[in-house]
Amino acid sequence: MNNGTCRGCGASIVWIKTKSGKSMPCDAEPVHYVPGGKDRAVTASGNVVSCEIVSGGGEIGYRPHWATCPNAKRFKSGMKTEKCKACGAPVIWKETRIGKVLCDAHPIHYEVGGDYVIVTEDGDTVLRAIVPSGGKLGYRPHYATCKSAENLVDAYKEK
Ligand SMILES: [Zn+2]
Ligand SMILES: [Zn+2]
Repeated sequence: MNNGTCRGCGASIVWIKTKSGKSMPCDAEPVHYVPGGKDRAVTASGNVVSCEIVSGGGEIGYRPHWATCPNAKRFKSGMKTEKCKACGAPVIWKETRIGKVLCDAHPIHYEVGGDYVIVTEDGDTVLRAIVPSGGKLGYRPHYATCKSAENLVDAYKEK
C-alpha cells in the first residue's frame, strides 16, 4: 500500500493494488464492513467486495476514495474550480441560500463549537469549528483566506 493525497480534495488516501492488477485510491482511514450490500470495500490484500459499511465489528477494509471524495460530487454538480482573480488560489463558487459565495476549492472538516464561517455542502452558511479530520465537510469563504484580500473586492467588482 502506498500513501498519497487526493489531488481533488487533499484527503489522505492509500493506493491498494487490486487482484485485477490496478491500483485503486482508497480512503486512508480503514472502515468496518459486513459482506453483502451496495457499498464497496477493498481489503488490504486487494479483494474488492460488495458490502455494507458499518460503524464497528465485521471485517476491516478500505473504501474506494471516489465514494467519499467531495470533489467527485463537485464534478457531478458541474462546479468548476477556478483561480482567484486576486491571489491565484483555487476557488469555487458555492450556491448558498444567500447567493453565490466564492469559497476555497479545498474542503475542510468542521464541527460545532467555533466561530469560523463555513459554507456547508447543502449551501447553508454557519459558524463552526475547523478540525483536522472527522466531522462534516464544508467550504471556507475565500475572503477569509485570500492572500490578497485587500484586492479581492476590486478584482471581482462588476465593471
Ligand atoms: Zn478526494
Ligand atoms: Zn484570493
